[in-house]
This record gives sequence, structure tokens and C-alpha cells, in this order.
Amino acid sequence: MQLTRIGLIRCESAMRTCPGTSCFRAIKERSGNFAPYSGEEIDIIGMASCGGCPGRDAVRQAKEMVRRGAEVIFLSTCMTKPIPSEPACRYSEEIAGAIRKNAGVPVVMGTH
Ligand code: SF4
Repeated sequence: MQLTRIGLIRCESAMRTCPGTSCFRAIKERSGNFAPYSGEEIDIIGMASCGGCPGRDAVRQAKEMVRRGAEVIFLSTCMTKPIPSEPACRYSEEIAGAIRKNAGVPVVMGTH
């Protein structure tokens, strides 16, 4: 069975109120942006914070998860939509680009 190792990065601000339940449910149910992994195995390498605006730890955390085996980085939905609180992150596209460039792996925008 195909196995994909995934690293997650989430919003530092949102993590104060969100325990990540919807992200973990999407992983478990292979829903949302995890639907392409239906019938496949997923190994979660880690779930790290972006480090606060403007995502100052995101690239470092992504690189560390890649060093530990991550093949793809997901930015959690809290980084791509105004969920669980407004406003939406203004830096997520920039963060994703920096991760792609510096960590050398694909980045998926959003989880559930
Ligand atoms: S950079 Fe974006 S994801 Fe990180 S704390 Fe700021 S708003 Fe949240």
C-alpha cells in the first residue's frame, strides 16, 4: 500500500483556540484535501506552528519535518480561510512559496 509522510503547519494565532480536531478528522476520514489519499496510508511526521506573523518559523519547521521524512507539507485550513477566526492569513501564499523553494517539497493549501 502506498505510504505518504505528511507534515502540517498551522496558524500560531488559531492554535490558541483550536485543538486541530477538524484537521485530524479529515486525515482519519480522508476527506477535504486528504481525499486523494483514500485507500492509502498516511504517516503524520508532525504538526507545527507557523511561529506567528508573518510565519517566521514556517520554513524552518517545514525543513525540519522534511528532514524527518515529510514528503509533502499541508498548511492547515486556519492558514487558508478565516477559520476558526477572522481575518484570514495574509501571508499563506508567501509562506507556501518559501516552503516550496527552501524545503523542496509540494505544499497543499488547506486541510479540511
Ligand atoms: S502568519 Fe498567518 S498563519 Fe501565521 S500567525 Fe499570522 S495569520 Fe496565523
